[in-house]
Amino acid sequence: MGKGNWKEPPKHWKPRTRAAHIGYDPFLSMGAVRPPIFSVSTFSTESALKLERMFRRAFGFEEPLAPEDEWPIYTRVSNPNFIMLCDRLQCLELGAENPQAIYFPSGLSAIFTAVMTVCNPGDTLIFGYPVYGGTDHMFRHVLPQKLDLNIVPVDATDLNEVEAALKKYGKKTSMVFIETPANPSLAMVDIQAIADLTHAHSDGILGVDNTFMSPVLQHPFQHGADMVIYSGTKSLGGHSDLIAGFVVDRDADRARKIQSMRIGTGPTPSAFDAWLLYRSLDTLEVRVLGAQENAKKVANFLKQHPKVERIIYPDFYDENSTEYKIYKKQCEGPGSMITFDPRGGKEEAYKILDNLKIFGLAVSLGGVESLAESPWFHTHLDVSDEDKEKSNFFPQTVRLSVGLEDADDLCEDLDQALSKI
Ligand code: PLP
Repeated sequence: MGKGNWKEPPKHWKPRTRAAHIGYDPFLSMGAVRPPIFSVSTFSTESALKLERMFRRAFGFEEPLAPEDEWPIYTRVSNPNFIMLCDRLQCLELGAENPQAIYFPSGLSAIFTAVMTVCNPGDTLIFGYPVYGGTDHMFRHVLPQKLDLNIVPVDATDLNEVEAALKKYGKKTSMVFIETPANPSLAMVDIQAIADLTHAHSDGILGVDNTFMSPVLQHPFQHGADMVIYSGTKSLGGHSDLIAGFVVDRDADRARKIQSMRIGTGPTPSAFDAWLLYRSLDTLEVRVLGAQENAKKVANFLKQHPKVERIIYPDFYDENSTEYKIYKKQCEGPGSMITFDPRGGKEEAYKILDNLKIFGLAVSLGGVESLAESPWFHTHLDVSDEDKEKSNFFPQTVRLSVGLEDADDLCEDLDQALSKI
């Protein structure tokens, strides 16, 4: 940690320097080079009038505080560990002037609160499938019933379908939501094209779940997105030891409303988790790139394996395909997720999962340890069989999240598990 409270990174700093130096002023904490954990519920203020002013601002009665006057009131409203973390994350998002991050206790809570803020009863939310199974469940089975939203699923890789839906619902569309690369099919959705369609046919916004690529490998704001969403549980946290979520918004007003919605409805992360996440961002780029190098080796190993019938990994897209062009346009690497179909069906997939020794049989992704699961029967169980097939995954499909172990050991582990079928 250098000297000074680096809220605004010098323009020439590269992401790795930003990720390790933004957000914390050691001289506010007796020179401690790492921030303390502010594990407290409430904060003292030097005068009743200042406390009133801060409440007026928290409830949106007055202009937001200038950063130098920021003072926490109560941890549900804010906490120094949250502020440091958000300052650090938002400076990694390229392509927006002054993006604002809001921290949530989970990725799903980030998505839910963003939708609650942006959409009013009766509005349309168009989402591109496939998305993470929990998001799909919320969109199809919670929001229409509980919030009276018109939810329209579309194949986001088919721009005609997206345009038709936008033309049909027009100004009633308040949000288009996509995930790219999509979970688990790694389908590539053209962020710029969907942003252009959204803005041409509606007054709504485009939200992009960027969890798979992280701010190291994809910058949705550079391609016209209005809002970037993360499950912080994945590569941002990176060690499978916490649950978290973020919304990063290019519009400061909307970000304030989302923050107010979080405060007003109650989801509150812990200071300890914020501290862990802040520390994890120091190593984000090294971890993401290291896991990606491993994944390239594992993907190449699986590609030539006689018991593997199909493998999806961005580097293997046909160079003349649309998905390859999208991949090259908006991703800075293939990432560390691999989806493959072994020969056979569910039985064979389960035999592989049950025999893996290094890969953990667990959901989640983006951690230092490699994990494997069946999207059909585990994470996306609740999605209809028809929608799963439309989304290009099947009962035999196995999803891998490649971590930071030795790549040769990972290949050997897959080889011995594949030898059981
Ligand atoms: N988005 C994606 C792409 C995910 O994979 C997940 C979880 O797996 C989520 C959102 C939800 O995040 P969380 O589990 O942190 O609520």
